[in-house]
Amino acid sequence: MGVPQRLPSHGVKTTLRGLMEKVVIIGTGCAGLTAALYTARANLRPLVLTGQQPGGLLTTTSTVENFPGFPEGIDGYELMARMQKQAERFGARVQFASLEAVDLKRRPFGLTVDGENVETQTLIIATGASHRRLGLESEAKLENKGVTYCATCDGALPIFRNQPLVVVGGGDSACEEVLYLTRFGSMVYLVHRRDALRASKIMAERVRENAKIKPIWDSVVTEVLDVKQGKVTGVRLKNLKSNVEAVMDCAGVFVAIGHVPSTGLFRGVVDMDANGYIIPKKGAGTNVPGVFVAGDCADHVYRQAITAAGAGCAAAIEVERYLTVLNQ
Ligand SMILES: Cc1cc2nc3c(=O)[nH]c(=O)nc-3n(C[C@H](O)[C@H](O)[C@H](O)COP(=O)(O)OP(=O)(O)OC[C@H]3O[C@@H](n4cnc5c(N)ncnc54)[C@H](O)[C@@H]3O)c2cc1C
Repeated sequence: MGVPQRLPSHGVKTTLRGLMEKVVIIGTGCAGLTAALYTARANLRPLVLTGQQPGGLLTTTSTVENFPGFPEGIDGYELMARMQKQAERFGARVQFASLEAVDLKRRPFGLTVDGENVETQTLIIATGASHRRLGLESEAKLENKGVTYCATCDGALPIFRNQPLVVVGGGDSACEEVLYLTRFGSMVYLVHRRDALRASKIMAERVRENAKIKPIWDSVVTEVLDVKQGKVTGVRLKNLKSNVEAVMDCAGVFVAIGHVPSTGLFRGVVDMDANGYIIPKKGAGTNVPGVFVAGDCADHVYRQAITAAGAGCAAAIEVERYLTVLNQ
């Protein structure tokens, strides 16, 4: 958890005009930069668009302890900076620009990138997903100071060990988070706005049977404490039925109220599920030949840096194979 910075990006926009790319990669998170590394090493000179968050979600965290190869852990920003450098070393062109529109019905595909037209034979969508927030000012101020959106990522951090923790949510993700956190917290409170979980029966049962979990029904978090101290010390809760407010001590707040995949630009053309996650076909493919997908924009289950990186590798290999056949 830490202060987000901006990764450097290179590439001169005017050189794009009139050129046809072999592959354009949308996104520079773990998925996009791994795809960039592999396609660059395959001499495809990928054009890689950063979007508004160069380096992706991992740049918003300071300690990544579960990315293989870093026994001491690594700062999220540094990990992403290294991934970018590694891809650039082999010829990836990382550009601070966003995809604004896309025409996947024509060949080559037509993209609008910061107002400019770019043509490409293949596309890798690696646009990630953002987590839903509670929308509280105190939540924003204490993000990365005890407020987090990923138990698997942050649950094992020392600040949460043997401390009371709060999970907000009531679906399968919230249940997974709360169960996982019982390994670390002294007690885990599950705050849910209704009086029953929305989660699947089996998950709900596991939660009910775990003595370390205490559900707090019909309640919402109205404030995360304590902004003045610059760390989470508790939450202010409001019972929606009685309107009674109470303060509860805790060292961490894990918000698990869902994710929103950044896939709006592809809606109606690329197959996606009801929540907007792209549905991969045959590994990293999609229903549109030549369009591949990687990372959290197609993964509502694992949502980890290493799985996103693995998917980026798979998408890159698929691109290489597709281009070999196309350009024979
Ligand atoms: C606080 C926090 C801590 C985490 N800690 C860990 C951890 O310790 N270990 C772990 O394994 N995972 C961790 N994760 C999860 C991990 O960050 C994600 O699983 C991973 O970043 C997903 O990678 P991605 O490439 O799919 O997407 P992202 O990292 O979300 O990257 C998406 C990219 O797409 C770009 N983009 C979006 N739209 C456009 C567009 N229109 N045009 C161009 N670009 C666009 C964005 O700017 C961004 O660069 C953490 C997540 C959070 C939020």
